[in-house]
Amino acid sequence: MASTKRSIGCHVSVAGGLSRALAHGEERGCDAIQAFPSNPRGWAVPSPDLAEEELLAQGVVDRGWPLLLHSPYLVNIGAPDPVVHERSIINLGFSLERGVRLAARGVVVHTGSAKGESRDEAVARAGETVVDLLEAIPDSNILIELTAGSGSLIAGTIDELADVFEAAEWHPRLGICLDTCHLFAAGVDITSETGRKKMRASLKEIGPERVKVIHVNDSLDGLGSRRDRHARIGQGEIGEEPLQKILAWPELKHAPLILETPGDAKENGEDIAIVRRLISSKSRAS
Ligand SMILES: [Zn+2]
Repeated sequence: MASTKRSIGCHVSVAGGLSRALAHGEERGCDAIQAFPSNPRGWAVPSPDLAEEELLAQGVVDRGWPLLLHSPYLVNIGAPDPVVHERSIINLGFSLERGVRLAARGVVVHTGSAKGESRDEAVARAGETVVDLLEAIPDSNILIELTAGSGSLIAGTIDELADVFEAAEWHPRLGICLDTCHLFAAGVDITSETGRKKMRASLKEIGPERVKVIHVNDSLDGLGSRRDRHARIGQGEIGEEPLQKILAWPELKHAPLILETPGDAKENGEDIAIVRRLISSKSRAS
């Protein structure tokens, strides 16, 4: 049974050293973790602390935990502004190299926005950028995360994301990070069977095997709010049932589940336990 066990965990802090992530993960009952490779609110990249990297890399291998990295929020792979674009490449490049050294499953990066430019141009730039980075850094994996839809987003739905994949010529090391809160806030009604059916059909088109991680979050705001505010599991506008249905889809069962819900270690642990219960109870996938 061990081989079919689904990995569940949450985003953890690495303040004070990368290897701190292990203790934070254990405290919360994780068997998968996600962390920021550098300051999430800045451009600067740290000098790589190879001893800490080694500790974390060995620690996740020993525990059999999938590790995900999440790039800083400023990174915009489709940015029309050349300065922002250049900084994004440098920052994401650092994360990808660090991800390879840590044997992470991949680096999650937001789709980016087309500020002041047509969406087509931004999509083309985003596609070209990810291909250049993936080719420059062997074994690296980029996981594009659909965001909540605020601003002039490049992609808020799975269908729109397919355009980015097309622009990246369906690079084999380009994957997807689905976030249940972001989908809902972007207007994908995962609370209705019709909405889920539509989403499933879109997923089938893009290739569900490309989904390398699912961010399981409830949403503080309503359907289509375009606001990215995560809520604890079952305490937001989505509720437990739709999450349970999606997590039962066989085509996504390979993907580790990462929670990014608010709260302290105890609350994170409680939310992880709820998700464990949701996936263990018999629910028909719909
Ligand atoms: Zn997320």
